Amino acid sequence: MSKSKVFDYVINPYIGCQHGCTYCYARFMKRFTGHKEAWGEFVDVKIIAAALLQREVEKMPPGRVWVSGVCDPYQPLEKTYELTKKCLEILVRHDWPITIQTKSPLVLRDVNLLRETDKVEVGLSVTTGDEGVRQLFEPSAPSIKERIKALEGLRLAGIRCLGLFPNGIMFATCLFGGRLYLIVIED
Ligand code: SF4
Repeated sequence: MSKSKVFDYVINPYIGCQHGCTYCYARFMKRFTGHKEAWGEFVDVKIIAAALLQREVEKMPPGRVWVSGVCDPYQPLEKTYELTKKCLEILVRHDWPITIQTKSPLVLRDVNLLRETDKVEVGLSVTTGDEGVRQLFEPSAPSIKERIKALEGLRLAGIRCLGLFPNGIMFATCLFGGRLYLIVIED
């Protein structure tokens, strides 16, 4: 866990992101890893992320934790390693506020865990409504439809997902933490 300028803390269970968005600002991470592969073609898995986090939450003052700053915490590898889930379990158990940022419906896997706290919010970024454009700029990320379905699933589960307009779901985009978000505001 590191200090963050966006929230109090940030955790990144992975270095690199399989979604490989062409505009990704996190590419600068390559400087620190020595990877020669293109962004999106390598991921370092921080196997001990949860063990480290456990130690840190016991000695650091509570604060809002951003999950994640330079990777998608629900990129496909998370299905195998469940590092994000293990870190969230620790944060929820210690009642720390959490802001999750993802493009993946895999976040729905953890809905039961997220329902255990009222201090979590989830942002699903939707950069365009045009699937052709999405494929061009976010070639390996989930489709727009899948993200919107994920948002609906979160909303139905009673999890705060950055927003709502009266008369159902409407969409707006908002630049936040360097990314575009879909906002659903609840009445
Ligand atoms: S999902 Fe986010 S972190 Fe991953 S490549 Fe796209 S912009 Fe970068």
